[in-house]
Amino acid sequence: MSTASVIKGSCLCQRVQYEVTGPPKMRLLCHCDNCRKVTGSTFMANALYRKDQLRIISGEDVLKVYEDSNTESGNTTSRKFCSNCSSPLFTSRDSDPSAAEVVAITSGTMDLGPSRENWAPQAEVYCKNRREWIVPVEGTVRSEVMEAFAPSKVE
Ligand SMILES: [Zn+2]
Ligand SMILES: [Zn+2]
Repeated sequence: MSTASVIKGSCLCQRVQYEVTGPPKMRLLCHCDNCRKVTGSTFMANALYRKDQLRIISGEDVLKVYEDSNTESGNTTSRKFCSNCSSPLFTSRDSDPSAAEVVAITSGTMDLGPSRENWAPQAEVYCKNRREWIVPVEGTVRSEVMEAFAPSKVE
């Protein structure tokens, strides 16, 4: 691994282009109901970065934000997506001081290869909501609830 690895990413229509520099704080799967709804799939696979590691190259004008206030923790979660193609991209909790520096980026919008080295989850959260037919990923730290934005709680 080089010291300043850069990962590029985009939404489906390519209007939103971004890059992240350096390693993520955490790669995680979230099985909560809200992440299931927002992805339209079975769980959400995000990498947590410091906000200063993310650079939006283009498409800031088509990014739309949904303020998700119906969360278990009560903290409003800002969910940014491309208003042209609907890809979910960036999730943050700007009003929560413990998470203010953090942005969660959808791994599916990152231009990554299929290998485990490229992107393998380290943690799974809200496992109490996990669909029973989803097998836990080998090697992950798991929590029944745990805040997705509190990676410091995962060792
Ligand atoms: Zn798009
Ligand atoms: Zn979630």
